[in-house]
This record gives sequence, C-alpha cells and structure tokens, in this order.
Amino acid sequence: MASRPPISDASRTSPQREITHIAEMRGVHAAFAYLHNQEMELRRWQRELTEIPAPPFGEAARSRWLFQRFTALGLEDVQADELGNVMGLLQRQSGAPLIGVSAHLDTVFPHGTALETREEANRLYGPGISDNAAGVIAVLAIATALKRCQLKPATNIVFIGNVGEEGEGNLRGMRQLFSVPQWRDAIRSLLVIDGAGTDTYVNQALGSRRFEITFRGPGGHSWSDYGVPNPIVLLSRALARFSEVHTPESPRTTFNVGVISGGTSVNSIPESATARVDLRSASMEELQKLENRLRECVAEAWSEVPLSHRAGEPKVTLAIESIGDRPAAVLPANARILQIVRAVDKHLRIESFPRLASTDANVPLSLGIEATTIGAGGDGGGAHTLREWFDCSNRDLGLKRILLVLLALTGVHE
Ligand SMILES: [Zn+2]
Repeated sequence: MASRPPISDASRTSPQREITHIAEMRGVHAAFAYLHNQEMELRRWQRELTEIPAPPFGEAARSRWLFQRFTALGLEDVQADELGNVMGLLQRQSGAPLIGVSAHLDTVFPHGTALETREEANRLYGPGISDNAAGVIAVLAIATALKRCQLKPATNIVFIGNVGEEGEGNLRGMRQLFSVPQWRDAIRSLLVIDGAGTDTYVNQALGSRRFEITFRGPGGHSWSDYGVPNPIVLLSRALARFSEVHTPESPRTTFNVGVISGGTSVNSIPESATARVDLRSASMEELQKLENRLRECVAEAWSEVPLSHRAGEPKVTLAIESIGDRPAAVLPANARILQIVRAVDKHLRIESFPRLASTDANVPLSLGIEATTIGAGGDGGGAHTLREWFDCSNRDLGLKRILLVLLALTGVHE
C-alpha cells in the first residue's frame, strides 16, 4: 500500500474529509469489525471490573486489574503512579507528543457495598457498571483494537485509567497526572470516556468549590448555661443569609447546602455545628463571587457573637475548610477537538449536543490543553445508585466514535 503522509495537519484538510478518509482505511475497518465481534468479551470484562470495589481513595485493586490488562495486551511502558493512576503507551517512544484517552476507575460506592452484577438480555446491572466500568472497558477495547489491527497513529497514544474523579476524590488522579512534566508537557489533547451514550460531548467544564463550615463554642446545659452562644443557631443564621444570595442564570451558577450536623441532645447547648456547601458555575469569576458571599455571610453571623465570646474565654470559633475545588473552563468554539467530534458524529449519523459538566476534562482544560468528555456507547441509567444499569445494544457505535476521534486527533496513515 502506498504510504501517505500523516493527515493530522488540520490546516490542510477539513475535519470532515479527514474523517471520511480515516474511516475508509482497511485497518480501521478491521478495528471496527474487531470491536463489534468483541462484544461478549467486553461484557465479561465489564462485569469482572464492576465487581472489584473502587470507593474514592480505595481504587488499588482496580488499578492492579487494569495494569495487568494493559500489560497482557502488549501496551508499552505500562506504569502506575503512587495514587494508582495506570498508564500504558501504544508505541514504544519516549519524549514524543501524546494524545491521551482516559477513564476514571473510582466509583461513588463505599467499602462494603454489594457489587454483584447480573445480565438480562442486552442489559448489565450492577453499581458502577455504567459509570464508569463502561468507560474503562471502552479504553481497553480501543487499546486492544489498535494493537491488533496494526494501525500506526502518527502521534503516540497514552491509555489512562485514573483514580479520584467522583465526589471527594476531587479529580485528584487527573491533577496528579497533569502535575508531572512527563505527561503535562507531552499530552496534546485528552479524550475522557465517562459513562454510557453517544449523544453528548463536553465543551464547558463546570467548576465547583465545596466548603465545610464549622462553628464551635463551649457548649453547656440548656438551663444552667443559658446565654452561651449556640453554634447551631449561628450556623443557621449564616446559612439563612447565604440562601438569599442571588446567582446569575447565565453563566449558570448554583449552590447547595447538602449536609448539616451538630449537637448531642435537646437539653444541651451544642459544642459545634457543621454544614457542607457546594458552589457551582461555568465561570471562575462567578464562582469566586459566590465564595466571597458565602464567606461574608458566615463572617457576619460570627460577628453577631458578643465580643466577650469572640475575644475572651469561653471562645466561639469559626472554621471554613475547603473540601473540593474543581476549575471551570470553556473550550473555544473552534477548538480542533470539537471540530473532530462534530465531524465524526456527522459521519456516523449521530445527533449529539454540547454539554456543561464537571469531569476529568476540567483539569487539562484549566491548563489550556484541549479535552472533551464523551460516553462509552450503549445506554445507561441509575448512575450512583445500586440499581445502575448499562444497555450494551449498539455499544460498538460508541466505540467507533471514540476510535475515529482518537485517530483524527493523532493522525494516521496506512
Ligand atoms: Zn463518571
């Protein structure tokens, strides 16, 4: 076969022509066929993975599983970092630019959750079977297809299974990855696979900041110590004030008080009261404004405590602790990765729409590295519940979509 120059040079080729050309390659046809025929094996992998616990900060067993899979399928330089992120390269090549494709390994389910899976017709059931066992299996399937079909992307690919996406994981896996020069300086763009579906792509990273607010006081008996400042009342005043803050519709900005706790009994003045608050926005500026308002409301409530209790003994104290911080960012409308996803979707006759979401893509996006998040194909529901399901019908459409996007990002020739 005549060798052609890599066609990743977007300035010369329109994304649509590029996708058409890639989809005609013999190796790509072979990869498509492989992905289609592999479905039953993918289901086995997906169930096996789902049954391995991976609560936030407890992903080690899944990291080992993926490490073994990456090694077995012949990825190069397979490695795990100290947090449990697992990386493997398509080709042996050091120091060259990379295109990344990633899926998070962690789930929201705590240790001890029953993780049995079952299968009915085309549906798989199990906690985390879709979010994000489907994503991890997609990464694995694509890696296997690329290895088998001898496609030679012009840019090397790093396959990533990362920890710490969900909740209090706070994107720690991605943050770690992009704090290491080996990856940060080499990864040109990142395709994140999260959950099921083919109908969306993320073009805006939803930022969030989370805080734990605690008022503490000396506490005491409800009758004999009457008059001692009450942390529950102080916290309630702060939250009531904050609840009246007006947030913009656009860029959409929201807040929630999700957890509140404190006190020991009805006849005791509590020694402490704590609330957890979640602030979200597509705009870093609005997020900062909202954080400032929260701090003001809390400070105002505290300032109403008599001076004798703020300065002298017994003291009333206030602590605001950050328990989460995800950067907001927006992909430029003409970003190459968006052009490619749209061209692939047109080619595959997929109707897709852009989405604002908080995903692993927040981290590279906040560093100015192109990234988007798409689904693993199929269909899913009940995410973050014990009733979670994944429907495997048409999974290969999602896998084709991922493969084409990846090959267009890397450039490929036969
Ligand atoms: Zn997820």
